[in-house]
Amino acid sequence: MITMINTNNEPKTLLDAVKFFSDYENCRSFMVEARWPDGKVKCPTCGSEHVTYMQKTRRWKCYSKHARPQFTLKVGTIFEDSPISLEKWLPTVWLLANCKNGISSYEVARALGLTQKTAWFMLHRVRLAMRTTVFGKPGGEVEVDETFIGGKARNMHLDRREKAITGTGGKDKAAVLGFLRRGGEVRAEVVPNRKKRTLQGMVRGQVAPGAAVYTDALASYDGLESEFAHQVVDHAVEYVRGRVHTNGLENFWSLLKRGIKGTYVSVEPFHLESYLDEQAFRYNNRDNEEVGDTGRFRAALAHIVGKRLTYDELIGKTALEKQNHILN
Ligand SMILES: [Zn+2]
Repeated sequence: MITMINTNNEPKTLLDAVKFFSDYENCRSFMVEARWPDGKVKCPTCGSEHVTYMQKTRRWKCYSKHARPQFTLKVGTIFEDSPISLEKWLPTVWLLANCKNGISSYEVARALGLTQKTAWFMLHRVRLAMRTTVFGKPGGEVEVDETFIGGKARNMHLDRREKAITGTGGKDKAAVLGFLRRGGEVRAEVVPNRKKRTLQGMVRGQVAPGAAVYTDALASYDGLESEFAHQVVDHAVEYVRGRVHTNGLENFWSLLKRGIKGTYVSVEPFHLESYLDEQAFRYNNRDNEEVGDTGRFRAALAHIVGKRLTYDELIGKTALEKQNHILN
């Protein structure tokens, strides 16, 4: 059974979203659609469609004989082990999918009547799940550029500020490497440094051999010509040479930095990665204007719960990826 969603009262603002999702039936419609696009609810244990919904307990019952024959919509998703209700989780996803400049845990806490700590944890979990892990290697024309994020010394306590500033000067900043496929998606990753070995290793891991790679004149990119159609635009001379430029990424960096300044007090390196993923998700879905806020929410939710990934699996996977990264 597919429940039709009334599109007239779709949420437009934070308050709308909170109100809209406070109705469990709205949560149920969206969750069922995201998890089972054919509209047929299946038992997460055995996959059987022979299940019955029990309105009273908001559970389904599977008729096959196995342990845990009853299940909720949270089973097998990143929400599963959390006592927080879907009525609070879904507006949080909605906010992350739609707020251009990001959203702070304080705002979420206030809107949903949660503690800031709980809201922070929820945001972190959803950001992690939004991380697009399965990219094909981009081919065609790819802009590659690096930037520094952080260094918000004015927000620090005086003793920390002195420590940060007297260091190497860039010690409190994190280096980030970005990839933008023309007409395609952007992705950005925290890198330990801007050395040749680090940056070129990343490019080789992320970009299909033979692709046109456009970078600035940083010496770390020298030598990419052996595997890519590498072209350099020297910013000391010019910013654009025909198709050779990194303006797409420059645009992404400025959105990124505006978001950090406007909403987040600071970005610790540890959390920076998930913040980058969140911004990349929004950037990559920016042209979905015809689908609007609800469309972006649908895409995010399908991405998050469509994979049937629990939070434990999610963190395990991320840790493994990190490990692979180092090995590569
Ligand atoms: Zn079953």
